[in-house]
Amino acid sequence: MDDEKKIEEVELREPILLYSDVIVCPVCGKKSLEVSSYLYTVDYFGRILMTRGICTNCGYKFRDVKLAEPTRPKKIIVYVQSEKQLRYLLVKSAYSYLAILEKGYEMIPGPASTGFITTVEGVLHRFQEALSIACSGADNEQCLQEKEWLKRAIDGLEKFTLVICDYEGASKVVGDDVEEEPLDDYCIGKKPEWLELPQT
Ligand SMILES: [Zn+2]
Repeated sequence: MDDEKKIEEVELREPILLYSDVIVCPVCGKKSLEVSSYLYTVDYFGRILMTRGICTNCGYKFRDVKLAEPTRPKKIIVYVQSEKQLRYLLVKSAYSYLAILEKGYEMIPGPASTGFITTVEGVLHRFQEALSIACSGADNEQCLQEKEWLKRAIDGLEKFTLVICDYEGASKVVGDDVEEEPLDDYCIGKKPEWLELPQT
């Protein structure tokens, strides 16, 4: 009995290696890209597939995170009212589009995009990092205003709408007031040309 219990715990906590291989690197063209995929079980999400690759020749790296059992393509909407929603966990797959509607902040998927698992607050920190790079050395009025807004938002003092257009059904936000709808014209309009929707 003890052994059985132990195995169950290990399966819940430890990632399971699904796949590991050395393939041709898209950057340098040598067969030196070490790729591995792991299955994790995470509270509230269920099973998550995490894939990492690193080229031992040129140093190219990639990482992706997505739901292991994809759902239907969907639009995910979080109305952030306070700190409560900032703590919601989210998985954003590589090819999902993410935006903060009121500010026009966007994460537009590209062929080299990576997926990640974080919180709504963690998304704000990502925009903060992007802003500090975009504004480096140029602390103009708009940069200062955006920085100030992000700081207040991280402190739970701003209300805003976070939208994810999940074209593959591989993203998720966990929270009791998270809305999910079919992809609408807004999301279709944001879909990159190169990304094909799964056949339904
Ligand atoms: Zn390489």
